[in-house]
Amino acid sequence: MKNYIIICVLLLASCSEQPDFATFPKIDAHAHLETSDDSFVELLRENNFILLSLVTRSVSQPLIDEEFNYARELYKGHPESIAFATTFSMDGFGEPAWEERTIEWLEESFSQGAIAVKVWKDIGMTFLDKDSSYIMIDDARFDPIWDLIKSQNKTLVNHVGEPKNCWLPLEEMTVRGDSSYFAHHPDYHMYLHPGAPSYEALIAARDHVLEKHPDLRFVGCHLGSLEYDVDEQAKRLDKYPNFSMDMAARISHFKVQDRDKVRAFFIEYQDRLLYGTDIGIRNSYMEGTSLARMQEIVEETYLNDWEYFTTDKILEQNDKVKTYQGLDLPIKVLKKIYCDNAKRMYPEIGMRH
Ligand SMILES: [Zn+2]
Repeated sequence: MKNYIIICVLLLASCSEQPDFATFPKIDAHAHLETSDDSFVELLRENNFILLSLVTRSVSQPLIDEEFNYARELYKGHPESIAFATTFSMDGFGEPAWEERTIEWLEESFSQGAIAVKVWKDIGMTFLDKDSSYIMIDDARFDPIWDLIKSQNKTLVNHVGEPKNCWLPLEEMTVRGDSSYFAHHPDYHMYLHPGAPSYEALIAARDHVLEKHPDLRFVGCHLGSLEYDVDEQAKRLDKYPNFSMDMAARISHFKVQDRDKVRAFFIEYQDRLLYGTDIGIRNSYMEGTSLARMQEIVEETYLNDWEYFTTDKILEQNDKVKTYQGLDLPIKVLKKIYCDNAKRMYPEIGMRH
């Protein structure tokens, strides 16, 4: 009997140290919600999740309006579960009216509830200037926009470039997610476009913005496109105190690096990393309800990532690297990457919750 009681006490003690997925406060700082079906929010509530939806397409205002309206309506209906970032159109960039129109639009976006401004990879990779050179993110004509974001106490969320794999042939890419993405998006497979800006030029342009605007709160999407090496991430985090990174769609790149080194990186930079996934819930290609889609996301993405971060299990995957070990991060670190860092980088999420 005595032994039985001791075993029970030990079991209880070890259980209480394991964080519980459903109740642990979590923010997915990188999602794309383009749906009018809000049934998925129920599952967010049950699993203590807040989603930041990033409006992304910057090619024209009508496309932005479509995405923006979905995000705003979801936010208005569920401000406790949804936040959103706006973006701006590149249509007319370089013309005198562009700056004024863009500032007006962003102010309007903020008044409707947007808490950040997303800038996508097409700046640097597709938009051409009048002289046919690529428009880069550190172009001085963006400075008034960055100043506005700063003055309104919002955050710049930036996806620059692509994973380094993008400059390699498909068969040399280190993770399957990249080789299958670029097989389907040859327009963005830069190995095939040697005339476009190099990986190094894109990263340097982003770093230049960080340097020029040390007071701008800046989140680099997808590990700042430095996913291939935690040392490269660490260098930027050391150099730019205003810089944090979301890990959306790049967690697979941690799994192909040395596990103990990655774990040490998470612990050292525990205040600078934001959990995010890049999940999409889109009317346009969704079969069934958004609730069913969210169920899929919980099972295929959220729980998988949770297992990687919270346990030290040897886990399997269908990728080039077949097995990897969980990081078993301390609870204090989990709390920061899953919640506190997003609240600090997006203070309005912190204020609403
Ligand atoms: Zn995204």
